[in-house]
Amino acid sequence: MPRKPGESSSIVKKQKFTKIYNAARPVRHSFYDTSQWKRIREWFRDLYPLCQVCEENGIVRESQVVDHIVPIESGGAMADGSNLQALCFTCHNRKHFAMSDKTQGRAV
Ligand SMILES: [Zn+2]
Repeated sequence: MPRKPGESSSIVKKQKFTKIYNAARPVRHSFYDTSQWKRIREWFRDLYPLCQVCEENGIVRESQVVDHIVPIESGGAMADGSNLQALCFTCHNRKHFAMSDKTQGRAV
């Protein structure tokens, strides 16, 4: 993919990942494409630049995802800061993998 002047390969990779990640989401998650969510996400990551789960475990790692503590599909508030947490990709994937195991009836 051609890059714009000054655009680093890490930005291109992040944009590609985000595009694939969003495309895999169910339609009900179109909230994540709204400017409201993008503003909330940027505000929250500015507030919490480190992964909150890693930080609790004494690890310093950049936050990469703003996650809904109670998922929207489970009735969690979409735009309420008290339902958000800043996570790294590893912690985010660990949480959602564990949640999908629970919903599929497997032991975690
Ligand atoms: Zn983490």
